[in-house]
Amino acid sequence: MSFWAFVVNASYFIAAVLFIYGLKRMGSPKTAKNGIKVAGAGMLLATIFTFFNPAIHGGAWNYILMIIAIAIGGGAAWVSGKKVQMTAMPQMVALYNGMGGGAAAAIALVEMYSHEAFMHGNAVIIMAVLGAMIGGVSFSGSLIAWAKLEGKMQKTLRLPGQQIINGVIVLLVVVLGLCIIGSNVSAPVLVTFFFLACLVFGILLTLPIGGADMPVVISMYNAFTGLAVAFEGYVIGNPAMIIAGMVVGAAGSLLTWLMATAMNRSIGNVLFAGFGVDEGSTSEDPEGEMKAVEAFDAAASFAYADSLIVVPGYGLAVAQAQHKLWEFVQMLHKEHGVDVKFAIHPVAGRMPGHMNVLLAEAGVPYDMIYDLDEINPEFPNADAALVIGANDVVNPAAKEDKGSPIYGMPILNVNAAREVYVIKRGKGTGFSGVQNALFFGDNTRMVFGDAKQVCADLSNGLKQL
Ligand code: NDP
Repeated sequence: MSFWAFVVNASYFIAAVLFIYGLKRMGSPKTAKNGIKVAGAGMLLATIFTFFNPAIHGGAWNYILMIIAIAIGGGAAWVSGKKVQMTAMPQMVALYNGMGGGAAAAIALVEMYSHEAFMHGNAVIIMAVLGAMIGGVSFSGSLIAWAKLEGKMQKTLRLPGQQIINGVIVLLVVVLGLCIIGSNVSAPVLVTFFFLACLVFGILLTLPIGGADMPVVISMYNAFTGLAVAFEGYVIGNPAMIIAGMVVGAAGSLLTWLMATAMNRSIGNVLFAGFGVDEGSTSEDPEGEMKAVEAFDAAASFAYADSLIVVPGYGLAVAQAQHKLWEFVQMLHKEHGVDVKFAIHPVAGRMPGHMNVLLAEAGVPYDMIYDLDEINPEFPNADAALVIGANDVVNPAAKEDKGSPIYGMPILNVNAAREVYVIKRGKGTGFSGVQNALFFGDNTRMVFGDAKQVCADLSNGLKQL
C-alpha cells in the first residue's frame, strides 16, 4: 500500500469513528449540537482526504469538477441551512435526502455506463444495481415528499388501479435490474430504462401517501439514501461511504420503525394502504359551536388549578412561542403552586423531536416532559389541559371515527381532562386537513390568537390576579 493510500484509509477510519460518535451524541438534546459538529468534522475530513486518494483517475479535470461540485453544493447548503425556518425543516430534510439518493444513483449510473462495474465481478454489479434502484426511488420519492410538504402539490393523489400500476413498475424494475446483472457488458439503453423505471416507482409510491404518514415516509427515504450510498461505496471501493451510508441506513431504518410503531402502523400499511387519503372518508364535521374565552379567563382558571398538562404542537413552532410559554408556566408554578407537565406526541410539529427541541431551547427541564404513553393515564386526573398550536395529535376522531383519514393514529387523550383550553388563531384544520371535535367539546374553551401573543396575555392575566 502506498503512503497516500495509507493516509487516506486512516483518515476514512477516523471519519467513520467521528460519524458514529457524533450520532451517539445526537441521541440527547443536551449533546445534540455538539454531535452535529463532530459528525460534520468527520465529513469534512473524509471530503478533504478524498483529494489525496490515489484511486481517483482522470487527472486535473476531475479535481476541477470536484471543487466546482463542492463549491455549488456546499454554498447552496450553507445559505439554505442559515435561512431555513424550524417549521420548514422536514422539507429541507426531504430535499437533502433526495439529493443524497440521487448522488448515489448517479455514481451507479456512471459505473454502469462506463463498463467499470462489470470488470470487478458480480458482487460489484449487484451492488451498483441495488444502489441505483434504492437511490433513484429515494431521489424521486423525496422530491415528491418535498413538494407536498412545501404545499406545491396536493397532499394525496391516488391513481385508479394504483396498486396494479405499482406492481407492474416493480416487476419492470426487477426484470431490467436482473438483465443488467446478467449481461456482462455495459448496455446504456437498458441502464437508462432501468433508472427511469426506478424514478417512476419512487413517484408512484409517494403520491398516495399523506397526512400523518409523511414523517414515516421521510425517515424511510433517509434510510434508503444511506443504503444506496453504502452500496455505491462498495462499488467504488470507498470505506468512508460504506460506513457513513450504513450508519445513516441503520439509524434511518430504526427511526422509521419507531415512527411507524408510534403511529400504530406497519411500514407496509404506510406504503400501500393510503393512510391520510381524503377520498372515501365518511366522517362528518363535528356538531356544535366552539366556545371562545379571553386569555385572562383562561389564566384565572389555570391559577386555581392544582395540575395542568400542556400539549404543544406545530402552531407553537410557527409562532415561536416557546419562550413566552415557559415564562407563563414558571409564573404559574412559582406563584400559584400549579403542578405543570408537558406532553409530547411523537409526530407533533413537522419533524421527529420537533417539540423536544423547542422546549429545550426555552429551557424547560427534561423531567417536566412526558411522552404519549407516560402522560395519557394522567389526563383524567388533570384539572386542566392547555393545547397550544396542536390539532391532529389531539383529535379524538383518530380513536372514535372509523371513517376518518387519521383513524388508528394514537393521540394524546386531552379530552379526558376536566377542562381543556385550546390556543389557535382561528378555525383552521391541522396537517391532515381533518376537523377536530375536541374544539367543540362541552369542557373545551378556545383562546383565539397567535400562540406567542396569547402566552404573553396569559402571563399578564396572572399578574392581574
Ligand atoms: P397540526 O398541523 O395538526 O395543527 C397545527 C395547528 O396549529 C393548526 O390547527 C393551526 O390552527 C394552529 N396554528 C398554526 N399557526 C399558529 C400560530 N401562529 N398560533 C397558534 N396556533 C397556530 O399540528 P400537530 O402538531 O397537532 O400535528 C402534526 C401533524 O403534522 C401531524 O398530522 C403529523 O403527522 C404531521 N407531520 C409531522 C411530521 C413530524 O415529523 N413530526 C412531519 C410531517 C408531517 P389555526 O390555523 O386555526 O391557527
